[in-house]
Amino acid sequence: MVQLHDLTFEPYIHDTDIREKVSGLAARINADYGNTELHIVSALTGSFMFTSDLVRHLHMPCYLHFIKVSSYHGSTQSTGSITLDAELKADLAGKHVLISEDIIDTGLTAGFLHEYLMKKQAASVKIAALLFKPNAYKGSLPVDYPGFSIPNDFVVGYGLDYKELGRNLKDIYKLKDS
Ligand code: 5GP
Repeated sequence: MVQLHDLTFEPYIHDTDIREKVSGLAARINADYGNTELHIVSALTGSFMFTSDLVRHLHMPCYLHFIKVSSYHGSTQSTGSITLDAELKADLAGKHVLISEDIIDTGLTAGFLHEYLMKKQAASVKIAALLFKPNAYKGSLPVDYPGFSIPNDFVVGYGLDYKELGRNLKDIYKLKDS
């Protein structure tokens, strides 16, 4: 069990399973893109750990971009509003882009980023996410590289926080009794 602020979390996905999943996702991405140059756009802050593990397994020439988006604002429920804290300066016109997300819940963030990157005239924009909540997903875009499909539980660890705590945990935990 892990206590973060006022909430208790129980073990959910062990780091050996996470590592296996991440290398499996990377293998699919390697097979699909071959030696094509790839621009990874990582949605901070939650995706920092997933992105850093994922890119270690990628073999094509990789550019890394970090973008700060917020949607939860410190609670356990999505607010439905997305804010972009800093513009992406890179010129992505004609480039192949892969969005790297920690978790896709409603899909609002991924949809917002996809539209933002398409406006930058990227040649293609695909989505990789370590965790995917299909029952909460309201998006119309395919999640090209989903890792674990999970129920609508609130999870922390491996980059994901509850009120900024828990990001450093190497395993993933879920809210107890949720
Ligand atoms: P979406 O826009 O898909 O609804 O939500 C995406 C963002 O919400 C994620 O990048 C993450 O920051 C946050 N989020 C969604 N579900 C969870 C969860 O179970 N735990 C945590 N810590 N954050 C979540």
